[in-house]
Amino acid sequence: MLQLRPNCEYCDKDLPPAATDARICSYECTFCAHCVETVLFNVCPNCAGGFAPRPIRPVTERRPGVCLGKAPASTARVHLKWDRADLAGFVDAVRRIPPAQR
Ligand SMILES: [Zn+2]
Ligand SMILES: [Zn+2]
Repeated sequence: MLQLRPNCEYCDKDLPPAATDARICSYECTFCAHCVETVLFNVCPNCAGGFAPRPIRPVTERRPGVCLGKAPASTARVHLKWDRADLAGFVDAVRRIPPAQR
């Protein structure tokens, strides 16, 4: 199950569960769409994978036990663990390789 992390790892923007601009990689590294498009160029700085829009967990319990209230979003903020000065080189080495070939 997705943790639904609360913020962008790069710029620390709040990304609440209903945010439509949250992007995640396959490990659920979480960034905002702006950072993915203008800084990361669809390269996750943690795993080199690409990103997809994060699905929105329904707030309404239409099936028993399945909704945001029963499976709340994480409140543990996550921050980039890599040196920002080194990030551009990492991204540049990977960005032209399609995610399916990385
Ligand atoms: Zn961001
Ligand atoms: Zn990742």
